[in-house]
Amino acid sequence: MQPNAPLKLHASDIDTDVLIVGAGPTGLTLATALVARGVRTTIIDRQAAGANTSRAAVVHARTLEVLEPLGVSRTLVACGIQAKRFTIRDRDRVLVPIGFEHLPTPYPYTLMVSQAVTESVLLERLVGLGGQVHRPRTLVGLTQDPTRATATLDDGSRVSARFVVGADGMHSAVREHTGIPFSGGSYGESFALADVRLSGAVPSDEVVLYFSPAGMVVVAPLPGGVHRIVATVAEAPEQPDAAFVQALLDTRGPQREAARVHEVLWGSRFRVHHRIADAYRAGRVLLAGDAAHVHSPAGGQGMNAGILDAMSLADALVAALAGDAGALDAYGALRRPVAGQIVALADRLTRMATIRPGLRGLRNLLLSTVSRLPAVRHQLAWRLSGLVYR
Ligand SMILES: Cc1cc2nc3c(=O)[nH]c(=O)nc-3n(C[C@H](O)[C@H](O)[C@H](O)COP(=O)(O)OP(=O)(O)OC[C@H]3O[C@@H](n4cnc5c(N)ncnc54)[C@H](O)[C@@H]3O)c2cc1C
Repeated sequence: MQPNAPLKLHASDIDTDVLIVGAGPTGLTLATALVARGVRTTIIDRQAAGANTSRAAVVHARTLEVLEPLGVSRTLVACGIQAKRFTIRDRDRVLVPIGFEHLPTPYPYTLMVSQAVTESVLLERLVGLGGQVHRPRTLVGLTQDPTRATATLDDGSRVSARFVVGADGMHSAVREHTGIPFSGGSYGESFALADVRLSGAVPSDEVVLYFSPAGMVVVAPLPGGVHRIVATVAEAPEQPDAAFVQALLDTRGPQREAARVHEVLWGSRFRVHHRIADAYRAGRVLLAGDAAHVHSPAGGQGMNAGILDAMSLADALVAALAGDAGALDAYGALRRPVAGQIVALADRLTRMATIRPGLRGLRNLLLSTVSRLPAVRHQLAWRLSGLVYR
């Protein structure tokens, strides 16, 4: 890691092995994994402080497994709620029950924990290993030649690195400067998101995806008696209030015993794209996380995929720095098809959830019949938990 001094102004002043742009979950995981292995690493982020909003709330079993070498999995587990089941329902009717408790993993559940907590656990580990995030520092330019890549930052300083990683999110400046296309499209609807206090027939140890003609709604438990609500809507309000969330649950959620919204703690909206970078590598520049792939939050795979990218890329970079010329291409060859599978799964769930009313009966019949087969439920549990990517 670079010494902890602030970046100097207007000089080509940092020389490092790996420059990571972006300190979200992907960048923090990668930085921690590289620093732990003694790689000279510099990580920058344009925000003055880490975001404190919850955003992605799901950490899957495979993610906890791959994070074990960093020594953060146990801390994360201690901070979260263990959801042992995931069900897809049409109002009160369970269409697909998926249990995680029999999965052969030390983490037979979905861990529910806010992204802000996940990021702070990773940051704490990075700092414990002697690293730090340089912030606020924004990458504004990027060039490369056969031996080095050079990043220009907003304060005029430059960072010369053997490799640069764009972990700078969906609107990645690294990806744009490198000219890698981000192919795909957008969903028409927007997503409304709220962390609320609820009462009523809402499980506190299970993630429920409700299908309804009006759109889908996910109800998931978070620590502290909070529930996360995520719903597709034509035009989500900038700040969903209690009345808005109540209307979502009344029209899409449980019917027999209604859920009551008492308080909205945090809310947001976002538009969802399904895009994958055409390549994960251009010379000395690599992409990971949302910079490389974005998709619907159905299935809760976004942040998990970024963390898995990061751990795989850490191995590839260590190998490349040791002279293994093929390691970086192998990273893209391994991880890009996974993004394709995740985009397809999230897309299938989103389309099934929002199917037009005339086909709803058929969908329900099909899902409840197929999901009676233990092999199907097992496959879904393997895919959702990420164990399929072992
Ligand atoms: C409102 C909201 C709700 C979401 N809800 C869910 C959900 O329910 N489930 C789910 O799975 N996912 C969800 N996501 C997506 C999830 O948050 C992302 O998949 C995850 O954050 C990706 O991590 P990342 O580290 O790749 O990118 P990011 O978290 O986007 O981090 C990128 C970082 O790069 C920094 N950066 C950007 N440009 C530059 C630059 N030029 N120079 C320096 N730094 C830069 C940014 O400041 C940021 O810190 C949500 C996202 C949002 C915004």
